[in-house]
Amino acid sequence: MEVTPTDVQRTGEGMQIKWSDDRTCLYPYRYLRLQCACASCIEEMTGRKLLNVATVPEDIIVVDFITVGKYALQFLWSDGHETGIYPYRMLLSLAENDEAVECS
Ligand SMILES: [Zn+2]
Repeated sequence: MEVTPTDVQRTGEGMQIKWSDDRTCLYPYRYLRLQCACASCIEEMTGRKLLNVATVPEDIIVVDFITVGKYALQFLWSDGHETGIYPYRMLLSLAENDEAVECS
């Protein structure tokens, strides 16, 4: 069965996503912003990172978010960036493979 978010909240530290497998994971804002894989952050053909990390404010937050179809979340960031789509499978992979994401 596919794991999907059952609850998504903005918190003081980051996006908190409760998954249907009962894990709750906290994705720090700036960390999540740096994972953006949209065409202006990552070069499509080469996978080269175009985003200049230094330009991303330390105190960046998610201002708003929407669900894209049945497979992804899209965030509106406080720096105005809003083209990034974060598929659930990518968010789950970050939760499993990256210590920056805390799950309980
Ligand atoms: Zn982006």
